[in-house]
Amino acid sequence: MMLGLSAAAALAGAAAHGAFHRNSPIFGRPITRLRTSGPADRAVALTFDDGPNPDATPLILDALGARGVRATFFILGRHAERWPELVKRVADEGHAIGNHGYYHRKLHLKSPAYVRNDLTLGTEMIERASGVHPRLFRAPHGFRSPWVTSIARSLGQRTVGWSLGVWDSDRPGVEVIADRTVEGAHPGSILLLHDGDGYDAAGDRMQTARAVPLIVDRLLAKDYRFDLFDPA
Ligand SMILES: [Zn+2]
Repeated sequence: MMLGLSAAAALAGAAAHGAFHRNSPIFGRPITRLRTSGPADRAVALTFDDGPNPDATPLILDALGARGVRATFFILGRHAERWPELVKRVADEGHAIGNHGYYHRKLHLKSPAYVRNDLTLGTEMIERASGVHPRLFRAPHGFRSPWVTSIARSLGQRTVGWSLGVWDSDRPGVEVIADRTVEGAHPGSILLLHDGDGYDAAGDRMQTARAVPLIVDRLLAKDYRFDLFDPA
């Protein structure tokens, strides 16, 4: 039997949602918010993608360290291979490390073999640099297919989405990055920023790095606390 037009459109829509929406449960359920202990718990997760970057990452680590705040870094394997000492520093300073794959290609149209190789290489670079086995994974752009989440799971990695992206990669200005992040945060939010550039190892992420102390200070002043994920 042929599907009616509306049913076919709904199916196509569901598949597109599963592929392109970072929080969609259709291709495996990702972590979409930070677990809080109750309505009064103003916890948020600060997450950074695409690093490490030799300029931005140390500055961000300095700002977090000075404030006793821990974040989660979704590290790109290619960059970990180039700057392993920065990955080690992230781990040594108590931050959580997640896998962001190796090549930073969009994964929704890639074969299972490609995805497995990309995620495995990313994992190996992180382990080689830091001795840490990442327990979390975030897909480049959040794009997934039916097998991306399950391949991550087979490597011991829970897939993580995000609540708020502020297009810091477009470099809209330090104040804009800070304002968007602080205004968009809610208890349980997963905040996405970029300490690296997934397409250019030398890409400029200094606006984000300079926004981080503003973001942390303003959220602390609003009684937020910063927490890590429980990957179990
Ligand atoms: Zn990325």
